[in-house]
Amino acid sequence: MSGRGGGPRPKGVNFSELVERYGSEEKCRDYLTAIRWPNGVKCPRDGYGATWIATRNVWECNRRSCGYQFTVRVSSVLQDSKLPLWKWFVAVFLMIESKKGISANQVRRMAGVSYKTAWFLTHRIRQAMVEAQGFRRLSGTVEIDATYIGGKPRFPRKGKRGWDRSTKIPVLGAVERGGGIRLRVERTGENMGTVRNLMNRVVDPATAHIYTDAASIYEGAKLTDSDTTHESVNHKADEWVRGDVHTNTVESVWSLFKRSIVGSYHHLSTKHLDWYLDEFEWRFNNRHNDYLFRDTIKALIGSDVMTYKQLIERPAS
Ligand SMILES: [Zn+2]
Repeated sequence: MSGRGGGPRPKGVNFSELVERYGSEEKCRDYLTAIRWPNGVKCPRDGYGATWIATRNVWECNRRSCGYQFTVRVSSVLQDSKLPLWKWFVAVFLMIESKKGISANQVRRMAGVSYKTAWFLTHRIRQAMVEAQGFRRLSGTVEIDATYIGGKPRFPRKGKRGWDRSTKIPVLGAVERGGGIRLRVERTGENMGTVRNLMNRVVDPATAHIYTDAASIYEGAKLTDSDTTHESVNHKADEWVRGDVHTNTVESVWSLFKRSIVGSYHHLSTKHLDWYLDEFEWRFNNRHNDYLFRDTIKALIGSDVMTYKQLIERPAS
């Protein structure tokens, strides 16, 4: 990896390449067609080949009795969108290239769309990221920790500092050392049940080591079994590192996430905190992926159709 210290640029896409390669509807369409149907366009209904009808800008199924006409957007998150493809490409570029995340408002200004469109666009791209992330369990050495996001600063009183915990939202995170992260909003709070749940959903049962702080919820969640050890450091007793046992990795993820919120979202809507976490997860887990732009575009093409109505009615957690 070239990292921040210079060296050769990763094989991603820079701004001038974005304009050169994807600066028109036709270029975007050809690119999507190539990554969606690398072995030739197939009818989504029956898998038959298809012929390009240039006068109508559609593909038509070669099977007479089918004759289905479709575009490269068919059965993907792009299907119901009237937005030009290049605006989708610009939004994807902005979202993955903004290390601290990007608000719908910034996308609105930079892509020249309405706020509602920008909001819908960014949320649909996030949805595609979530689906593409799939289910890869964390393994090896995994650190688990909780933090609080959002909330209002407490009215400063004598001897009282900090934030009002009651308006903050607990987030649980699991981080594989040298690997990926999985972050989950836990509106019911951090407790043995949510810790157990996170373990079951995102951590490989055969993972070797689990490190946490000494909070009783981790003891209670019984993370040790025949092939997994659980050890903790006691922060209250000022113990932060004991040999290999520490939670510094997950804590650095928290501080990165919190900085990204401060930098990008003037008002973090806690309703959509799940989305922000999803987007952050995607960027973090792909931090060494030279083909992130392509893979995010691929995610869009592979993702389900989602309407505006479904999106705003998405359950809170
Ligand atoms: Zn067909």
